[in-house]
Amino acid sequence: MRVQPRDDIALMAGYHSPQLDVAVRLNTNESPLPPPAAFAEAVAVAARSVSWNRYPDRQATELRSRIAARHGVDPDRVFAANGSNEVLQCLLLAYGGAGRRAVVFEPTYALHSHLARVTGTTVASGERDGDFNLDPDAAMALIASAEPSVTFLCSPNNPSGTVEPPSVIASLLDTVGSTSGLLCVDEAYAEFSPHSALDLVDDETPLVVTRTYSKTWAMAGARLGYLIGPRWLVSELDKVALPYHLDALKQAVGIAALDFVDDMQARVSSIVSERARLTDRLGGLPVDVWPSGANFVLFRPRDRNGAEVWQQLLARSVLVRNCASWPRLAGCLRVTIGTPEEDDRFLDALEEILT
Ligand SMILES: *Cc1c(COP(=O)(O)O)cnc(C)c1O
Repeated sequence: MRVQPRDDIALMAGYHSPQLDVAVRLNTNESPLPPPAAFAEAVAVAARSVSWNRYPDRQATELRSRIAARHGVDPDRVFAANGSNEVLQCLLLAYGGAGRRAVVFEPTYALHSHLARVTGTTVASGERDGDFNLDPDAAMALIASAEPSVTFLCSPNNPSGTVEPPSVIASLLDTVGSTSGLLCVDEAYAEFSPHSALDLVDDETPLVVTRTYSKTWAMAGARLGYLIGPRWLVSELDKVALPYHLDALKQAVGIAALDFVDDMQARVSSIVSERARLTDRLGGLPVDVWPSGANFVLFRPRDRNGAEVWQQLLARSVLVRNCASWPRLAGCLRVTIGTPEEDDRFLDALEEILT
């Protein structure tokens, strides 16, 4: 018999999101537009001065301090990694593991529970209501009874777009504090939303906030993300990350991007207004729509099979995320905000299919 993986790994499905060749790709919440040409130019210049024969700066000192400066925190509060997924994995390597628990509130970003399981952490799931809102009392009760070392809260929540009000964050923080746990607020979409938990981070608060270059920075191809948290926590994460995990070019790319904040903000505000336009037009179609604070919108065709609608969109070369068979999301589809042209192609196709 061949060598077998761990029993729990053998039972896992892994990550599946079809990468198909279509005209309109609105399925993975990427930015529809690339960063500016001047950024690509800066990357080319940086590539020429990389010391390829040398290991990169293991501490990613300049990258961390530039990220820190952007958020007005000290550099030793910043941990960077290959995408925020690797940040989350490191968090669980250090604070999860066998005999420990993580809490998630479903439906939410699948990687939170997936990475918890991969690291041997037991998952305790709380439920959002039918409109994907969190009941703070139920959430606090779950944390109090499960006593997780890590509680994940995704805000804006993927795939619903729900933004948690500061009062909910404050309540959860109280509870994780009293059970010696940690609250991880995944803010992959923070720039698209009205508020953030970042201001609450300090050395006394059991809170980390994760961010990514993949969405607002239009750099999903770069695989770069980071966390802002207490100093004592960042130094534990430094122990579990592989030495030199951030290559020299990636560090330079992450630094170069931060010279183009204005371009990023312009892209974000045009996506936010495009989100309002798309939500509005969806409101005129026979679908249920949930308000979103992110760069995507969740909707459910009424009286129609969601998976069939997904297929019919695909037949028109429009790819959205098919959540129709996911637990708690029966019949739902998630569309990323694209350019106005892409969104019109999506909306016209959907209108044709549904009316
Ligand atoms: C897209 C996304 C991320 C980004 O992960 P990366 O590894 O940084 O690309 C993280 N969290 C959520 C909730 C997301 O939707």
